[in-house]
Amino acid sequence: MSIAQQLYQLQEVDLELAANQQHQARVSSQLGASQEIARVKAKLETGQQRLEELERQQHAVEWEIEDLTVKLKATEEKLFGGKIRNPKELTNLQREADELKARSAQMEDRVLEVMDQAEATTKSITELTGELSRLEAEWHDFQEKLLAELIELEAAHAKLSNDRQQLAAGIVPGTVAVYEQLRLRRGTAVARVEQGACRGCQITLPTTELQQVRGGGLVRCGSCGRILFLA
Ligand SMILES: [Zn+2]
Repeated sequence: MSIAQQLYQLQEVDLELAANQQHQARVSSQLGASQEIARVKAKLETGQQRLEELERQQHAVEWEIEDLTVKLKATEEKLFGGKIRNPKELTNLQREADELKARSAQMEDRVLEVMDQAEATTKSITELTGELSRLEAEWHDFQEKLLAELIELEAAHAKLSNDRQQLAAGIVPGTVAVYEQLRLRRGTAVARVEQGACRGCQITLPTTELQQVRGGGLVRCGSCGRILFLA
C-alpha cells in the first residue's frame, strides 16, 4: 500500500471520528430537563393554588350564610314574638329581616358561582395531570433512547480511535506530522486525483506531477499543497 493510500485511509477514519463527535454533541445537547414539562408543572401548580383559594372562598361565604341565618332567626323572633308593639320598631325589624334575606340570597348565588369555578379548575387540573404524565413518559423514553444512542456512538468512537492508532503506527512518523499540519491548515490533508485534477482545489495537475502520483510516490498538489492520492 502506498503512503498516499495509507494517509487517505487515515483521513477517512479522521472524518468518521469528527462526524461521530458532532453526532455525540447533538445527542448530548438533547439530554436533560424538558422545558415543556416544566411549563405544564407550573400551570398545574397555579391551578392547584386557584382551587385552594376557591375552596377557602366557598367556606367563607358558607359561614357568612350561616351567620345571616342566625341573625335572621333572631330578627324574626323579635318581629313575630309579640313583645314588640311599637310600629316604628316593627317596621325597622321588618326592614332588617328583608335586608338579611337579600344578603343571604346574594351569598347563595356567590356560593354557586365559586362552585362552578372550582369545578372548571378541577377539570383543568385533571387534564394537566394527564398531560404531565404523558409528557413525562415520552420524555423518559426519549432520554433512554438518547442514552442508548450515546453509548453506541461512544463504542464506535473507541473502535475508530483504535483503528486510527493502528493506521498511524504503520505510517512513517514524519509523514503523519505533515498530514496533521495540512489538516489543520486545509481541513483535509489528502486529495483524490480524478480526471487528472486535484479534487482538493479542482486544479488540473501537470503531467509530471500526475506521473509521480501514478508512480506511487508522495506527491503534494502544487496548488493547494494537499497530498495527492490516486485510487
Ligand atoms: Zn490541490
